[in-house]
Amino acid sequence: MNEYFHYQQDRLYAENAALDDIAQRFGTPCYVYSHAALTDGYRQFAEAFKSREHLICYAVKANSNIAILNLFARLGAGFDIVSGGELQRVLAAGGAANKVVFSGVGKSEAEMRQALEAEILCFNVESPSELDRLNAVAGSMGKVAAISLRVNPDVDAKTHPYISTGLKQNKFGVAYTEAFELYRKAAAMPHLRVTGMDCHIGSQLTEVSPFIAAAEKVLALTDRLAAAGIVLEHLDLGGGLGIRYDDETPPSIAEYAQALLGVLQGRSEKIIVEPGRVLVGNAGVLLTRIEYLKHGEEKNFAIVDAAMNDLMRPALYDAYHAILPLQKRGLEKQFYEVVGPICETGDFIGHGREMAVDKGDALAVMSAGAYGMSMSSNYNTRPRAAEVMVDGAVAHLIRERETVRQLYAAEKIVA
Ligand SMILES: *Cc1c(COP(=O)(O)O)cnc(C)c1O
Repeated sequence: MNEYFHYQQDRLYAENAALDDIAQRFGTPCYVYSHAALTDGYRQFAEAFKSREHLICYAVKANSNIAILNLFARLGAGFDIVSGGELQRVLAAGGAANKVVFSGVGKSEAEMRQALEAEILCFNVESPSELDRLNAVAGSMGKVAAISLRVNPDVDAKTHPYISTGLKQNKFGVAYTEAFELYRKAAAMPHLRVTGMDCHIGSQLTEVSPFIAAAEKVLALTDRLAAAGIVLEHLDLGGGLGIRYDDETPPSIAEYAQALLGVLQGRSEKIIVEPGRVLVGNAGVLLTRIEYLKHGEEKNFAIVDAAMNDLMRPALYDAYHAILPLQKRGLEKQFYEVVGPICETGDFIGHGREMAVDKGDALAVMSAGAYGMSMSSNYNTRPRAAEVMVDGAVAHLIRERETVRQLYAAEKIVA
């Protein structure tokens, strides 16, 4: 819990809006975001880096609702995208193309063309063959593509293996030992302009030391390049700062920034960062209602109307999310497996949670703003949840609940 989600006379609120009212009005499952939490998170970042030229490129994949992208765009954010679809969203949301960096190992020719057409700030190139392809595509359009290489610093991010990206064995980036030669090759390509260096070592990092280790490697390589006549304009240090889901103690935004700025002291390059989770994770919750309480021989189950299709993180990473009642009740506490209706044993929201609840009660799955809705699916033909943005006491619907008809609208019966 934080200042944006809090109890007031035993009712859970987002800012000044009671969440049980929102659950009634918009139905469940339903994602709810706090406008103030989103705004304050971005402002903390901007404040922490204000002593030098910087660009905060919000990682769109963490939560790509256009209302959230629009809010960040109005605050001055750039965007880190990983697909042509995300670029289209950013532009539809009012984001500036010239503040967009394009990451990802598998950019297609069509995506490159789309991004060159829009005139994005920089491509974060992840392989030698991507350099060749981008040079060819830009050439065919009579354009020059600004690039940085995403270098893999071989630093252990000490996070879950599925979200660790900066080790030698990961598919991301180019090997640190090969990057120098590749930069020379890129600098000689006629339709590329080398402008920066990029690294992103993983997600949900709870210590600053891996960030520092990665930044030091980026700087060392940048200096070697400068000595060879390749002078970079910007350094992109990626995202990855973790948040508190349970008892983690990640560095604050200010501590993280201070550590990076310490390493960067005396440097003139513009700094780019790509935060995702830390800007949205604790700014959102997922509301769900208990359909049934089922008392098994060994365990009690609270069967809720949200499932792994709505929030995949528990099933995918065995991730922990706190689960709180929207109304505290004077009932006997019991331990529950909080599970969804999907036909998979992996369909759980939380294991062994002690709660005083009854059938029909609504719950908030906390810290669900990042990699929640953006990873959701329609498995079991379940329409995706509604999304609501609370601003003060006002709740705005920012995405309607899907209908089942929409789910099969593109399908055809063969006669
Ligand atoms: C996912 C991703 C991010 C954001 O990571 P967070 O852990 O959400 O901050 C930033 N940059 C790249 C290249 C990514 O793939």
